[in-house]
Amino acid sequence: MEECIFCKIASGEIKGLRIYENNETLAFMDIAKDVDGHILVIPKKHYKNILDCDSETLSAVMNTIKRVSNHLTENCGYDGINLLNANDESAGQSVNHFHIHIIPRKSNDGIDAWPKFEGAKEELQTVFDKVKM
Ligand code: 5GP
Ligand code: ZN
Repeated sequence: MEECIFCKIASGEIKGLRIYENNETLAFMDIAKDVDGHILVIPKKHYKNILDCDSETLSAVMNTIKRVSNHLTENCGYDGINLLNANDESAGQSVNHFHIHIIPRKSNDGIDAWPKFEGAKEELQTVFDKVKM
């Protein structure tokens, strides 16, 4: 994936503020400067998102998320974390390399990390009948 910015960060071709890495994954600072401590966790191999990511890689990503999250709460003065993740442009994904956002949280920090939904349009039972596996 020559033109993928996160592939370039993973390989070191482009500088990133690398918090933690292992063979399969990398955690680095998001450049958005929208909230303190905004971190991204990615697989080093290119996948678009969770929909095409194999389960072994997904597991490695989640293990790194847990490792970084435990570090944030045990050593860095944070109380909790939010995980945010968009899969596909329809869901708001803007960088097409699988990534999960970590937003570190402190009690009463005033951050509202939950989306403001506008209310369901379909009946609960109708949607249930459609999505049940
Ligand atoms: P998405 O909208 O796809 O869930 O999130 C993409 C994230 O990537 C955004 O939060 C954006 O700030 C971040 N981002 C985009 N380009 C770069 C970059 O070059 N370096 C870093 N560190 N983060 C980036
Ligand atoms: Zn990539």
